[in-house]
Amino acid sequence: MKKLIFVTGGVCSSLGKGITASSIGALMEARGFIVRMVKIDPYLNVDAGTMSPYQHGEVYVTDDGAETDLDLGNYGRFTNSPLSKANSITTGQVYQAVINKEREGRYLGRTVQVIPHITDEIKARILAPGKDPDVDMTIVEVGGTVGDMESIPFLEAARQLIHEAGKQNAVAVHVTLIPTVSGGEIKTKPSQHAVKELQEVGIQPDVLVCRSVQPLDEGLRRKLSGFTNVEFEGVISAWDVKTTIYEIPLVFNEQGLDSFLLRKMGIESRHADLRAWKEVVRKFKEPKVTARIGVVGKYMELADSYKSVWEALYHGGIANEAAVEIVKIDSGKLESAAGGEAHADLDHFLAGVDGILVPGGYGQRGTVGMVAAARWAREHKKPYFGICLGLQIMVIESARNVLGWQDADSTEFNQDSSHPVVSLLEEQVDVKSYGGTQRLGKSESVLKEGSLIRSIYGAERILERHRHRYEVSNAYRADLEKSGLKIAALTPDGSLVECMEWANHPWGLGVQFHPEFKSGPIAAAPLFKSFIGACIFSGKPTGKSEGSTAGKADSRGAHVQT
Ligand code: GLN
Repeated sequence: MKKLIFVTGGVCSSLGKGITASSIGALMEARGFIVRMVKIDPYLNVDAGTMSPYQHGEVYVTDDGAETDLDLGNYGRFTNSPLSKANSITTGQVYQAVINKEREGRYLGRTVQVIPHITDEIKARILAPGKDPDVDMTIVEVGGTVGDMESIPFLEAARQLIHEAGKQNAVAVHVTLIPTVSGGEIKTKPSQHAVKELQEVGIQPDVLVCRSVQPLDEGLRRKLSGFTNVEFEGVISAWDVKTTIYEIPLVFNEQGLDSFLLRKMGIESRHADLRAWKEVVRKFKEPKVTARIGVVGKYMELADSYKSVWEALYHGGIANEAAVEIVKIDSGKLESAAGGEAHADLDHFLAGVDGILVPGGYGQRGTVGMVAAARWAREHKKPYFGICLGLQIMVIESARNVLGWQDADSTEFNQDSSHPVVSLLEEQVDVKSYGGTQRLGKSESVLKEGSLIRSIYGAERILERHRHRYEVSNAYRADLEKSGLKIAALTPDGSLVECMEWANHPWGLGVQFHPEFKSGPIAAAPLFKSFIGACIFSGKPTGKSEGSTAGKADSRGAHVQT
């Protein structure tokens, strides 16, 4: 029988349900089980594609092109669960499907209701990713806080599934807050109430993951157990780790969370191989050098808007045994500092960084600052990594500053540019029927022999995820190559540019895809690993020991001195 693990949250949001669910997934995989991860978002949006990065953080893109909640990114970083549209459920999707079925007459004239029609639809969607015969268990994170109006149908569906599968096949993990009030006293009352609220909807938690600043002592855990009907071994302390979120699977394992869950589900325990996670934490705690990365983007106020980029930079650091210091540079501010012009002296802002990364983004605002940063990196021979918009910026910069086309631009930013070096495909071929839809999800790139990117991946063909609408204009390929930009990768049919590199530069590269979505702490995305390696060599090592192992990184870039 396949198992289900539900993860819910009480007291308030942002307690780390996603990291809890992901860490449980990582621990189960470390014991050889095959897991699937499912995220439920009780909002009415059908997907996260239209949500502002300011409101909701990053939009995470899956292989099949689903635009999902950023929690799926955590699942991807902690587990090997395949992630697709099917792993992300929203209220909008559920209602849309039910209403479509009603319009098609599939309910045979019956009254369509929240129970059973909506809950049946939710249950079918929760179970779908686990249908694969190899799968041992599905971990289902219910977004929001128990008590929210929006999550009621999802909790009812969870209750029914637990009831139908039986307690030995379906368990509930409740993540809750144990605050410390002024005077230093630690309070369990909010958690007692949060559990009551869960019990009111008919779910008895098997595990309490208690978020607190400091580790909880045994007395408090016993008290919580007594008040909530959760066995003492199921009361887990999840204090604020001072190192990295990647230590959390180890913190849970030390308290026996995974073996307790297995016992509850009647699964025979297997050895947990946690060596890879221990290595990640060790490398994070004992860096030999520091890399300062200037990220020049436009959604800087919200910490989560480039979540996968931050994480991938840290993965690159771990792979190089380097600490990564991220310097967030608002491209808008850089733009005003540059006096609105791309040729201003930016040393004042950028001098301390070892490399520049320009991530993805939409809209004209801030692009002048990004172009200025790209120019600075090109001229100062500092590592530059352009992702999606960051590649397009690299192209615009060379067109303006090397080819001398002052108004060269993307048609996304200037429809009247006399040199539209980045444009819509339909503008290039003058076909208006494409509809301006985005290129979304996994697709193949062919890497040119002798290119930096090919040496970094060590392969000719790669699969990476896309999320963009505009492309490097094919009409300008020859001119751009004359400007010192090498086309380093194309789509298999040769029709679209996937990667550009600066000739005569130690590490200057832009890609049209988003490598950050496939990066993890155990296996950093090759481009991030190589980029951090190159930055270490361009900056001043602050190492405790001589000769960083970073130099052994398997990329050409990592060995280049600037
Ligand atoms: N705005 C650009 C485009 O649509 C880049 C998108 C991105 O960076 N994800 O092509």
